[in-house]
Amino acid sequence: MTVRCNTSSQVGAGAFARPAERSAERQALEDRKSEGGTSSRQPAGRRPYRCLAVLLSLLGCARPAPAQSFNAARALQYTREVVAFGPRPIGSPNHKKLENYILAHLKNDQVEDDAFTADTPEGKFPVRNIIAKFPGTRDGVIVIAGHYDTNYPLRNTGYVGANDGGSSTAILLELANQLHGKKRQGRSVWLLWTDGEEAVKDWTATDSLYGTRHLADKWQKDGTLRSIKAFLLADMIGDADLNVDRDTNSTPWLEDMLYRAATQLGYQSHFFARTIAVEDDHLPFVHLGVPSADLIDLDYGYGNVFHHTPQDTMDKLSPKSIEIVGNVILETVHMLDKTSN
Ligand SMILES: [Zn+2]
Repeated sequence: MTVRCNTSSQVGAGAFARPAERSAERQALEDRKSEGGTSSRQPAGRRPYRCLAVLLSLLGCARPAPAQSFNAARALQYTREVVAFGPRPIGSPNHKKLENYILAHLKNDQVEDDAFTADTPEGKFPVRNIIAKFPGTRDGVIVIAGHYDTNYPLRNTGYVGANDGGSSTAILLELANQLHGKKRQGRSVWLLWTDGEEAVKDWTATDSLYGTRHLADKWQKDGTLRSIKAFLLADMIGDADLNVDRDTNSTPWLEDMLYRAATQLGYQSHFFARTIAVEDDHLPFVHLGVPSADLIDLDYGYGNVFHHTPQDTMDKLSPKSIEIVGNVILETVHMLDKTSN
């Protein structure tokens, strides 16, 4: 992916939070403080449970991981296998191999694709979003997305995008393992491997996010968008030194929910120490009114030095980081299962 600080583009990806952003954090803190009180969004029955969670966190113990928890070793192995294809930019033979690898993983699932030709500054390219649908018992859909293409301008440098492209592909493959073959007791979950996230030349509104711009538009036209309760995006979440940023382009209440999920699982030290504005695959959905949140760590190496360089390799990653984000996503999905609308 690429970051743009939309409030100040000259600051760049390594920017630290500024005063306005600190006040957003203060607001989030106030929101979190107030939720134990009279909020009508949460049933009263959850309060003792939350008190228990607070007590456990005061005692220094996190709530035990859910029984059906994310398999970190397997997720890292998927990342390794994805990276082994080599560079995977749009239009490349390696990209095609990866499409087939993802589809093979989903062979018993309900799969659709959104395939089209993108017109780019480097010519026309085939783009293919892959969607696996896991039906639930409740109305509404939760989309969990991540991109699988790798950076196009670096295609001849040996760049393999272990974190940027690899980790996002793999976390969805492991989430699919949690969902295969059973009816969800909750909302439907759709896993979405997005394509054409990367710019082919320089990141602009029209040279980036090819796949999600097309899909959001299609889902708006056919009415699908109305059923989507939340759009959760994972990008660059494998860094061994995991620091997920709070993103001001994401929907605040959904970011707050992610933070609550992280806190319940004892992972809060990996979340939201820094606040930045991120341009990523969630934006086309944000612009069309879908509650959306980007789980992204844009501090990849000191000052983000490994991002979009041939140094984005497997040795920088940790299975623990993918596990943390995977479990936070699963916990957030459980929370979204219970929201009132
Ligand atoms: Zn990228």
